[in-house]
Amino acid sequence: MAEHNFDLVILGGGSGGYAAALRSAQLGMSVALIEKDKLGGTCLHRGCIPTKALLHSAEIADNVKEAAHYGVNAAFGSIDMPAVNKYRDTIVDRLFKGLTGLVGSKDITVVAGEGRLVGPKTVQVNGENYTGKNIVLASGSYSRSLPGLDITGRVITSEHALQLNFVPNKVIVLGGGVIGVEFASIWRSFGAEVTIVEGLPNLVPNEDIAVSKGLERAFRKRGIDFKLGVRFAGVEQHDNGVVVSLENGEKLEAELMLVAVGRGPNTSGMGYEDQGIAMDRGFVLTNDRLQTNLPGVYAAGDIVPGLQLAHRGFQQGIFIAEEIAGLKPAVIDETGIPKVTYCEPEVASVGVSEAKAAELYGAENISTYEYNLGGNGKSQILGTAGFIKLVRKNNGPVIGVHMIGSRVGEQIGEAQLIVNWEAYPEDVATLVHAHPTMNEAIGEAHLALAGKPLHAHA
Ligand SMILES: Cc1cc2nc3c(=O)[nH]c(=O)nc-3n(C[C@H](O)[C@H](O)[C@H](O)COP(=O)(O)OP(=O)(O)OC[C@H]3O[C@@H](n4cnc5c(N)ncnc54)[C@H](O)[C@@H]3O)c2cc1C
Repeated sequence: MAEHNFDLVILGGGSGGYAAALRSAQLGMSVALIEKDKLGGTCLHRGCIPTKALLHSAEIADNVKEAAHYGVNAAFGSIDMPAVNKYRDTIVDRLFKGLTGLVGSKDITVVAGEGRLVGPKTVQVNGENYTGKNIVLASGSYSRSLPGLDITGRVITSEHALQLNFVPNKVIVLGGGVIGVEFASIWRSFGAEVTIVEGLPNLVPNEDIAVSKGLERAFRKRGIDFKLGVRFAGVEQHDNGVVVSLENGEKLEAELMLVAVGRGPNTSGMGYEDQGIAMDRGFVLTNDRLQTNLPGVYAAGDIVPGLQLAHRGFQQGIFIAEEIAGLKPAVIDETGIPKVTYCEPEVASVGVSEAKAAELYGAENISTYEYNLGGNGKSQILGTAGFIKLVRKNNGPVIGVHMIGSRVGEQIGEAQLIVNWEAYPEDVATLVHAHPTMNEAIGEAHLALAGKPLHAHA
């Protein structure tokens, strides 16, 4: 059997794996990157990028429908889904080509094939052994379902939803988290009737409650229906559609049901347990330096418990490469990781919610301020409603920024600098924000929290 030796062997070429490969090659290590499908993983091929391309087509559809309001004569015809998919694929292909070229230009050996951990530091692929001084496990995640709920026919996951070449008339989205609300938003803009079913009491339940309620208001206005705090009981399929039963006895009919109840770690049958790696419900456990219980074996991305986001995977990949190189990188603070949900309106946040802050520090030791986008010129021009909510420690830094409104995802950059650099509202209030931008709303919110509101009534 052929044996290959490297400084680093990485299992999985998605966000976590390829970031580790690029950074370790930069640091002079010899690297093998094992990928059974396509470099770029879920994010590039089935996740972040294709969904955001669809959301952009959805935004254009909305703009055309609302054109008359802005004095533009344009008539909305229909959605040509094959053409939408073609546009999306062009973006994915271009980025894939770029990534392949980038990885190819470094000293990285890309091994195509399915890998299995056959020794603590050895991955077997196509009958050949790749042994590393260090190993990174980065095998990613898959769309989960509920016990007894089969993904088949008209009951689909996000992977299938991205392959549809038509717009369903009526669709039920099971799960009101990030992936669920993004697809609900896309389909609504494309003209579908959409109902979201969420077992918890709110949409985007991981966000500050004010933002969840803001999104519920906005979705209601857009005609997106939702059933909250009620659990799914079962689904029956027939020739033309599905009948979904809820635990409260209600029945909903639709053409399709999207199951968006979260993502499970892609780790089973890959030799991880056999090698004695500590795991919990399929997730690979690590310490805060991303090391598993086996020396020299690290894990990155969605298989590590925590936020399943591409930029977390990138950062973890970079961290591991630097850790192995002895650069002693700073531990990644999970609460400092920005989160964006790209539905219309967008949701973006970083740091802790008001409820979490109250739990951590006591309600009497924190203050909040909500700046309504009604006072922001650019938001009015764009016709969006929403707000920016700040949470601060009294006489201390801003520890949470929570936003809702069209395009607010683009504002997360400054928000995350504020939270991660532990800025005080008084510090931010001295910084000049350009007028008229949506970004200005961040400046206004901090001015208000620092006790000197400008375009704000409170
Ligand atoms: C619909 C959707 C939308 C999303 N939108 C966003 C977004 O807007 N922003 C964001 O930050 N995140 C988003 N995500 C999440 C993001 O895609 C993931 O967090 C990210 O891809 C995780 O990276 P990873 O490296 O852990 O895993 P993956 O990207 O899943 O990569 C793992 C790779 O390992 C390979 N692999 C697995 N097993 C083996 C094996 N045995 N041998 C060889 N190769 C193997 C797989 O083929 C895959 O390429 C979205 C996800 C979905 C599903």
